[in-house]
Amino acid sequence: MAADSRVVVVGGGLAGCACALGLAGRGVEVTLLEAGSTLGGRVQSVNLKGMERGIDNSQHAAFRVYGRFLQLLATCDAREIIKLQKRTTLPYLEVEKGRISIVQSGRLPPPNHLAVSLMKAKFLSLGDKLAMQKAVKALQRMSEEKRRSLDDTPFIEWLQENGQTERAIRRFWDPLVKAALNIDSEQASTSVACFLFRRGLFGDPDAFDVGSFTSDLSDSISPALRRTLARTGVEVRTSLPVTGLFREEGRVAGVMTREGLLTASSVVLCTPIAATARLLTGAEASVASHEVAARLARLGNTALIGIHAFHEGPVLPSGIPFVTCCDEPLIQMLFDRTGELDEQNREGLPGHWISVAVSYADPYLDWDDELMRTEYERVVYAAFPDAPTITEFHVIRVKRATTALTVGSQRLRPDPSDAGEGVILGGDWLDIDWPSTMEGATRAGLSAAATILGHRGDSLMRGWQHDDDWPDWPEPPRRGAEGWREW
Ligand SMILES: Cc1cc2nc3c(=O)[nH]c(=O)nc-3n(C[C@H](O)[C@H](O)[C@H](O)COP(=O)(O)OP(=O)(O)OC[C@H]3O[C@@H](n4cnc5c(N)ncnc54)[C@H](O)[C@@H]3O)c2cc1C
Repeated sequence: MAADSRVVVVGGGLAGCACALGLAGRGVEVTLLEAGSTLGGRVQSVNLKGMERGIDNSQHAAFRVYGRFLQLLATCDAREIIKLQKRTTLPYLEVEKGRISIVQSGRLPPPNHLAVSLMKAKFLSLGDKLAMQKAVKALQRMSEEKRRSLDDTPFIEWLQENGQTERAIRRFWDPLVKAALNIDSEQASTSVACFLFRRGLFGDPDAFDVGSFTSDLSDSISPALRRTLARTGVEVRTSLPVTGLFREEGRVAGVMTREGLLTASSVVLCTPIAATARLLTGAEASVASHEVAARLARLGNTALIGIHAFHEGPVLPSGIPFVTCCDEPLIQMLFDRTGELDEQNREGLPGHWISVAVSYADPYLDWDDELMRTEYERVVYAAFPDAPTITEFHVIRVKRATTALTVGSQRLRPDPSDAGEGVILGGDWLDIDWPSTMEGATRAGLSAAATILGHRGDSLMRGWQHDDDWPDWPEPPRRGAEGWREW
């Protein structure tokens, strides 16, 4: 079969779209194949029965440290779909007392930029806070080599070894681990958890500025991606699943779809774990592909549940956009989703929207909606007795939401070229340290693109690694950057 210079990218989530845009921007002919009818993958809204409009599968939060994701938005002329905090501000709610403490970034240099507000916060005791300083110092002193060597240690053990009190773990460390890694501290790999705290919360003073979507997820990202892919000449085929890889002389030379064979010089797999493992196996697949598939199967996923409650009016006090609920295993956070949305994007909602992202939701997958509602009402009315009545209540369960970042998971995550055979890997499960997030997916897609460009002799991209800005795209925003919205 004739050599084809085209690259086929499989999967139209953030990873696949970032990969396709990265390649097309440097002159490569790209075809993107997506099984579903829209782009954006897991960043999507769901159409529920009886609801006039789509609502997010679950709250999706971004952060200023999401440099490649924000670059992707900028290159799609979609800066307006996110607003970023001017200053890191994290409210903590003690439910029974209805008391909110705010942790905020201040003037001290990192890792101490949160120290002043943490000392004032009432949800932790002085003993908890003094112990936390020990862990922050240990994080600061830790070398990257040491961090990566802690993959087999459960994060809770590391916290205990570093003197953390039971309350500091329960109220401070564990909720952050759950929210960002979608696993609890007892199971999380210390390597991944320490990456989160070193790069995120205790990294740059602006790293943890929270970014919120100003419209529901389907209206935000999918149209912007589609427009930009079209402008850059990427051929996009939606509703066209890849059913298999086509191999010729020991190399993958294309993909199979219901429309037949599509040849390619390289095939990039930006598909979720299970779909990737399926595509990598089969009678003619190489040993390396089978090995990657086995590693992915061992990695696995953890679940997320999106709880969406609509009330007759606002629930959270004015000026409080979200809260982390102390000591609440199910109702971990409350987001004022109506408050985040632009005015024109609030139409068609059946009330004032409060969204709860239940992270590491695996233990709750078999809870019915009624039980969830009872828990939700208990928390909300204990903390805010005057909260307006609920008009509608919905629950969305996503079983395979993110990569399971348990102990030993780092070792299982593959590099882009590990499957050999001319297949390049690019999903949010790639070994790039970042958890399975919108940023992890964007970086993974760009890492796959850089691998292909490097093989093709693109000198600018040879040696590119995901901590570098993508050179063809606008810079990620620092605080106060023009064109970006802040709140
Ligand atoms: C409920 C939920 C809440 C989340 N909350 C957050 C959050 O707050 N912050 C954050 O940063 N991240 C969050 N995430 C994680 C984030 O959404 C994902 O990590 C990221 O979007 C993954 O992108 P991806 O491109 O790697 O994979 P996906 O988005 O899964 O894209 C893969 C695509 O491949 C397609 N596909 C599958 N098989 C085939 C095939 N055979 N042929 C063609 N196409 C195929 C799929 O249809 C899909 O569109 C959340 C995820 C979920 C599910």
